[in-house]
Amino acid sequence: MRGFLKRTSGAGTSLERARLATISLAITSLLVLTLAGSMSAAGAPPSDLPPPMDLQLARDMLKSLVEINTTHAHGSTAAAKAIQGWLLTAGFAPDDVVFLAPAEHPTKGNLVVRYRGKHPGSAVLFLGHLDVVEAKPEDWSVDPFELTERDGWFYGRGSIDMKDGDAALVESLIRLKREKFVPQRDVIVAFTADEEAGGDANGPAFLLKDHRDLIDAALVVNLDGGGGDSKDGKRQFFEVGTSEKTYVTFSLETTSPGGHGSLPGPDNAIYRLADGLGRLEAFKFPVMLTATTRASFDALGALESGQTALDMHAVAKSPPDLAAAERLSQNVRLNAQLRTTCVATLISGGHAENALPQRAKATIQCRMLPGDSADHVQAQLLATLNDPAIRLTLDAPPIVSPESPPTPQILQKITRLAHSMWPGVPIIPTMATGFSDDRQTRNAGIPSYDVSGVWQDVDENRAHGRDERIGVEAFDQSVEFTYRLLKEMSKSD
Ligand SMILES: [Zn+2]
Repeated sequence: MRGFLKRTSGAGTSLERARLATISLAITSLLVLTLAGSMSAAGAPPSDLPPPMDLQLARDMLKSLVEINTTHAHGSTAAAKAIQGWLLTAGFAPDDVVFLAPAEHPTKGNLVVRYRGKHPGSAVLFLGHLDVVEAKPEDWSVDPFELTERDGWFYGRGSIDMKDGDAALVESLIRLKREKFVPQRDVIVAFTADEEAGGDANGPAFLLKDHRDLIDAALVVNLDGGGGDSKDGKRQFFEVGTSEKTYVTFSLETTSPGGHGSLPGPDNAIYRLADGLGRLEAFKFPVMLTATTRASFDALGALESGQTALDMHAVAKSPPDLAAAERLSQNVRLNAQLRTTCVATLISGGHAENALPQRAKATIQCRMLPGDSADHVQAQLLATLNDPAIRLTLDAPPIVSPESPPTPQILQKITRLAHSMWPGVPIIPTMATGFSDDRQTRNAGIPSYDVSGVWQDVDENRAHGRDERIGVEAFDQSVEFTYRLLKEMSKSD
């Protein structure tokens, strides 16, 4: 509980204020050094890392952002205000660094930054969410709300989802400003609230509804997805997210008469629910391919060998080879590409240690493939539960988002950019299995792509979980990539 208690007051602690002040000082020194000419990069060899002081600043920002608790209960206002302060220190005009929070949710603050280009209109909008999933210190081997560097990793809640991206975006904006870069079109960066909880204060949803003029764009680049996949330390391929699964949540509920704990009988809400959950665990939704997943399996097949390569090509055919799909499904990541999935995420039941339960509840979260529907999923869940005494309800209708076309223009840009740092790495359009704020912008009619410069092992699966981490080298390179990404995507061709 130590870390949790220490950080309940967020950016208001003296420790945090001191860190924010240190970062402001670092930004000021960078500007002074540049004026004195000692930061000139002229003649310097090309590097896959930012200049050392920019890199240090980005790391300090990551540390500061991780240490501002932005879980659902705390909100993102403190983090948004910290970033606002850094950008003002770096010389951004107050009118171009706008803090916005819904009147009824003052802790769910957003920051919209406009970096003005030569030609206004047809802007590009970058998205980075500030909020993180809850983390209980007792479940972690380190304090989740402190950035811990250990054995080449940065540990901390949000270290890879996605305070790394937020830090890279802010630092790159400051670097571009210092270098007097003028983009062809306006570059907008929105640091937003409430992506993880999917609540009613979602930043992009709020901004699209109430302040569309501030974030209206021809294109969205979201750093919350995409990026490099490696295996055993070897770079494999680089993803560009063009579509995503959408989530839909159901509640299961059982009831029983209850009574004294010394007299158990056959009708028990907890056992009934548990039996239903067991059937759900064993159930697999049917295999379904989309245009994007078909393309990614074909591309991945070319990188694999042996049976896996054959299976990937076979599953990309129409109709897909189901035996091949079954073998591929042994890998949880590939399984999630092949089908809609549902999983129990919360459970509660009973009311006293010495009483028979009267009620038990479970939450089932489903991730639907584009093209699947809540009605269809619900029907399959009911058939699998196969028990009319388990009541199933839909918590809220899903937000369905269309696929953004993987155009040659977009893919060529990203290929050029990725190859400037990692020559020859294959670029693959993909469907994200998690949802992101893309669903908001795609619903609003703006083509949205996930692009991130972070490399991660395909078997690494700690985002939202215990001991979330990012490789130190992966973070460092992502800062340089983000800087180049901002420049490249600001070109209107
Ligand atoms: Zn995220």
